[in-house]
Amino acid sequence: MADTHLMSIPGQVDPVPVARDITPRADGRIDLLGLPKERIRELFETAGLEPKQAKLRAKQVYHWLYHRGVTDFEAMTDIAKTMRPWLAERFVVGRPIVIEAQHSVDGTRKWLLQTDDGHDFEMVFIPDADRGTLCVSSQVGCTLNCRFCHTGTMKLVRNLTPGEIVGQVMLARDALGEWPKGKMDFADDADEAEYTADGRLLTNIVMMGMGEPLYNFDNVRDALRLVMDGDGLALSKRRITLSTSGVVPMMEKCGEEIGVNLAVSLHAVTKEIRDEIVPINKKYGIEELLQACADYPGASNARRITFEYVMLKDKNDSDEHARELVRLIKQYKLPAKVNLIPFNPWPGAPYECSTPERVKRFSEIIFEHGISAPVRTPRGRDIDAACGQLKTAAEKKSRAQRDREAAEAAAS
Ligand code: SAH
Ligand code: SF4
Repeated sequence: MADTHLMSIPGQVDPVPVARDITPRADGRIDLLGLPKERIRELFETAGLEPKQAKLRAKQVYHWLYHRGVTDFEAMTDIAKTMRPWLAERFVVGRPIVIEAQHSVDGTRKWLLQTDDGHDFEMVFIPDADRGTLCVSSQVGCTLNCRFCHTGTMKLVRNLTPGEIVGQVMLARDALGEWPKGKMDFADDADEAEYTADGRLLTNIVMMGMGEPLYNFDNVRDALRLVMDGDGLALSKRRITLSTSGVVPMMEKCGEEIGVNLAVSLHAVTKEIRDEIVPINKKYGIEELLQACADYPGASNARRITFEYVMLKDKNDSDEHARELVRLIKQYKLPAKVNLIPFNPWPGAPYECSTPERVKRFSEIIFEHGISAPVRTPRGRDIDAACGQLKTAAEKKSRAQRDREAAEAAAS
């Protein structure tokens, strides 16, 4: 069982429980998944290897682990045959547990996963003609309670560890059969010639699954570093997007220490409406948020910030709202594009999706002012895999239902 301790997070009222990065398994072996090369080296040294040996073995194991997706030390062919059982006695290379895998009629795939200590979370793969996007979770549940989001009705259970985050990407590569093949005898002259990224299914990653990634900053950063490392999963930072509901104090750090594309869940242009639908707005208002976007390191016309805007009928979808959105983007001189997301319904949701005509008109107004505002096609709705529908089976009760149950329990 992973034991957890409490970690306080800036801007956060309640401390968020987080599992330790290394949790020895019941059989005493240590799971290397999620650890950087340096930590692996330290562990090898602590386990008794000479410093030079530890460094070399860490380098080899790291490459097999993250670049090749190998989980069995026996398959690490450039490591001496006698050394492999030594490793296998002390270490393992794990994966999140798969509880259920679902396939949508439109090709979208959703996996219900579980941590070692029994918490459920989800990841979604969305194939398109020219790309394949993996939607990765950063937390089990979310503390933020955006009113239109199903995940927001879950109680936060805990932050995911770097291993649980990078493990989602690795599991997707396992499922898609996309690990580089070929012989690797010497890590240094590598096998890049035998490995090409062309024609891969998984090309992009979005941190848009369950949870607020900037409330689990260190673990998300450490996981994405493994994903971006050329000797790791080797996915370019240009193909990774992190979506935040607007945790302003962490945005600059995100640009500096991770450097991925930024998406911001704006969803409203007035204080009154954003306070209601994205309650973190009461802490960090629209002006502060847009200034943080203007200051986001690395944003440029070539790498625009995406503003996500969920279309809620008669709530945030008028012509005036569209014009105000344009005005704000221009006022802050933001290199921006807008992504309009038709609201995905879930049982008990307090909103409806805007009509298609309204969504179209809203989009046109923004386009007319020279800002791109495509409408995101909902994917995987039939398996509850679309934006904002993620919520694990254990938590499939509405908030009202849980409140009722709690009241009944208190009364009895
Ligand atoms: N917590 C982060 C990332 C996860 S949500 C964030 O809020 O940005 C990914 C996107 O889906 C966010 O823009 C979110 O606001 C949006 N979303 C949530 N619920 C939705 C729903 N029911 N319909 C459409 N989009 C939704
Ligand atoms: Fe959390 Fe994002 Fe859902 Fe808001 S939209 S409740 S921040 S997951």
